[in-house]
Amino acid sequence: MSDLTRLSASALASLIASREVSAVEVATAHLDRIAAVDDRVNAFLHVDRSGALEAAEAVDRGEITGPLAGVPIAVKDVVTTKGVPTTAASKILEGWKPPYDATIVERLKRAGMPILGKTNMDEFAMGSSTEYSAYGPTNNPWDLGRIPGGSGGGSAAALAAYEAPLAIGTDTGGSIRQPGAVTGTVGAKPTYGGTSRYGLIAFSSSLDTPGPCARTVEDTALLHAVIAGHDPRDSTSIQQPVPDVVAAARLGATGDLTGVKLGLVKEFAGDGSEPGVVAAFRESVEALVKLGAEIVEVSCPHFQYALPAYYLIAPSEASSNLARFDGVRYGLRTGDDGSRSLEEVMSLTREAGFGPEVKRRIIIGTYALSSGYYDAYYGQAQKVRTLITRDFQAAFEQVDVLISPTTPFVAFPFGSRTSDPYQMYLADLFTIPTNLYGGPAISVPCGLSEGLPVGFQIMAPTMADDRMYRVAAALESAVGTFTPPAL
Ligand code: GLN
Repeated sequence: MSDLTRLSASALASLIASREVSAVEVATAHLDRIAAVDDRVNAFLHVDRSGALEAAEAVDRGEITGPLAGVPIAVKDVVTTKGVPTTAASKILEGWKPPYDATIVERLKRAGMPILGKTNMDEFAMGSSTEYSAYGPTNNPWDLGRIPGGSGGGSAAALAAYEAPLAIGTDTGGSIRQPGAVTGTVGAKPTYGGTSRYGLIAFSSSLDTPGPCARTVEDTALLHAVIAGHDPRDSTSIQQPVPDVVAAARLGATGDLTGVKLGLVKEFAGDGSEPGVVAAFRESVEALVKLGAEIVEVSCPHFQYALPAYYLIAPSEASSNLARFDGVRYGLRTGDDGSRSLEEVMSLTREAGFGPEVKRRIIIGTYALSSGYYDAYYGQAQKVRTLITRDFQAAFEQVDVLISPTTPFVAFPFGSRTSDPYQMYLADLFTIPTNLYGGPAISVPCGLSEGLPVGFQIMAPTMADDRMYRVAAALESAVGTFTPPAL
């Protein structure tokens, strides 16, 4: 058998279903690959060898069948896994083992998917480079001296390094799509409420969306179908059938986009993007036109305010959500030697347990929510959010989906954007509007710039996730997939 780690999830699933290979062989091949390369990549914070093999054995005994039965997966460390360490890449949660599974993890288990381990990320999913992990950065398999994107850099790098065929990410402002773009992998942010937030360690509850990551569009759709759908344990979960994303991906793969209208966002055109990114994007647009798509230029005048609005709303919600890490209920406790007050212990714990970016967000959010400033900052940002939603709604009256590059630049070298937070925030210039609106969006590799991958973003109306998969698969059929140099 050829190297199992190089195969797609759908190929692995059919080999396992026909018993040409066992689920244990597939899990073992990936665990061995992790053992061989992860000291260089650092995609994993925790590897669960015995848990993965046990789940694979259940599939081999015929106890579980299904479209992805036996296909292993890596899970971002911000998603709770029962009895398996979950830290959100923070020192404040070091050693914490959740007593329950997130809903999406329950669904992976029910689908017979062995969980290989937990992936590295920016602490509490705040960042765009994985450099803010308390456990050291993840290295991009395309160039180990460059960032793999963030916050879900570990999940994306695990795919690009062939350590896992599938991964789970979470996207609050771009953390699935931006790492996908800079590692040459696919990442989809489902419609907000389309996938359950139950069991995610909350960052910004009105934006957080878990979603699928893979190396091909079809694999991404297959995983999307496993994790999506209504969950009564999440109050914002949508009570509607999940769009048939797998059928849409297969339709798109036929390479026919006749009659599909793609909206080119005028305000994003060339806006601060690297020339190589612009060139790869333009060539891909031409490829889509050859498949029959029609290009319409649309204006979304409020998108330019998305970044400042996001950096008020997300930190405001984070400052509230992160109040629960007080040294009493979970993980780290510092200074509790009997001589200090409860408040002092909480303060010492938070000082020691949170990294600088997390503290920055808590400070910004607390300020934006404080009485006297609430209307001027948080209130204004919410108004901008409404205007951005209206821009999307107006655009979708003219076109089926919107398109743009996923990120303005390719993977950058470590340390090149950490000294100026604004430079880091710019990585999400094109991904954030979608989060404020709540619609779905996907990033697909579309070319290379100076040997590094460029991502193409497709944004669709809420609960029309199938539309973006169709266009994404069509693009993939035209431009192919991209393989990093051997590690
Ligand atoms: N990079 C953005 C931030 O730092 C988005 C993070 C995310 O989507 N989790 O907030």
